[in-house]
Amino acid sequence: MQEILNEIAEFMSENTDRGKVADYIPELATINPNQFGISVALPNGQVFSAGCAQQLFSIQSISKVFSLTLALGKIGDRVWTKVGREPSGDPFNSIVQLEHEHGKPRNPFINAGAIAIVDAIMMGHEPKESLAEILQFVRYIANDDSVGIDEKVAMSELASGHRNSSLAHFMASFNRIEHQIDKLLGVYYHQCSISMSCEQLAKSGLFLVSDGVNQSTGSRVVSSHRARRINSLMMMCGHYDGSGEFAFRVGLPGKSGVGGGILAIAPGKASIAVWSPGLDKIGNSKLGTLALEMLVQRTGWSVF
Ligand code: GLN
Repeated sequence: MQEILNEIAEFMSENTDRGKVADYIPELATINPNQFGISVALPNGQVFSAGCAQQLFSIQSISKVFSLTLALGKIGDRVWTKVGREPSGDPFNSIVQLEHEHGKPRNPFINAGAIAIVDAIMMGHEPKESLAEILQFVRYIANDDSVGIDEKVAMSELASGHRNSSLAHFMASFNRIEHQIDKLLGVYYHQCSISMSCEQLAKSGLFLVSDGVNQSTGSRVVSSHRARRINSLMMMCGHYDGSGEFAFRVGLPGKSGVGGGILAIAPGKASIAVWSPGLDKIGNSKLGTLALEMLVQRTGWSVF
C-alpha cells in the first residue's frame, strides 16, 4: 500500500494539469494549487499516507456527510421529509429545481439540502450549541480532539454567500425553514469550514467502512442499515452533477468539497481521503479524482 501511495503522490507532483482553486470563496482562492495528499485508513487502525497528508484543509461539503449522519441520529427518517435522496444532475449551488419541487431539496449533499439538514440539527438550539455538537461529532468519529474550524474561511463564506442566502430564503418562502436564516447560515458556514488533514479525514470515514462501527476504536456510530444508506447517497449524490462520472471512473461512494478534498469509502476495505485544491469545472478535485481512479485500479476496490 505504501508503495502504491508513493507512486500516486509522485505522479501527482509532476502533473501540471491541476484544475482551478475555488475562487468564489475569497479565502480559498489563496490556497497554493501545487499540493497533493492521500491517506488510506484500514479498519485495523493502520493508516498509510503520501504527499502532504498532514496539511490541514477546508473540508467544505465533505462535512455534509457528517451533518447528515448527525441529523439521522437526532430525527431518524423524518430527515426525508426535509430532503430527498435523488441525484440532482445540477450544480451544487443551483436554485432551479427548488422552484419545481416546492422548496424541498433533491438530496442532503447539494447546498440547499445541507442547509435544510443544519436547520433540522438546530431544533431550537442556539447556533453555538449546534456548531459545538457538529464539531464534537466530527472529533468523535475522527477519534481526534484537535479537529477545529478555520474562522477565516467561515467569515469569507459569510461575506460572499449571496447564493446560499438565496437558497435559504427560497426554501423559507415554502415554510420549510424553522430558524432565523442568518443564524442557520452561520452554523452552515462554520460546519463547512472545519479543517482536517487527509489522515484525520480518512480516519473519520472508518465507521462507513465496517457497517457503522469504527473498528479501530470499537465504537458503533450508526446501525449497519444506516451506514449502507449513507454510502448509497454518497455514491449517487456525493459529487453533484459529476456523480455519474465519479461512479464510472472510481466506483466508490465518495463526497467531495470545494476545498479540494474527497472522502471515499471502499466498504469492508478502507476509508480513503485525498486532497488537491485544484477543481474541475463541476467543483470536484481534479487530481483527487485521478488519484482515486489510480488507487482503485491498483487495488481492485471498486464496488462494481
Ligand atoms: N461551503 C460551500 C458552499 O456553500 C460548500 C460547497 C462545496 O463544497 N461544494 O458553497
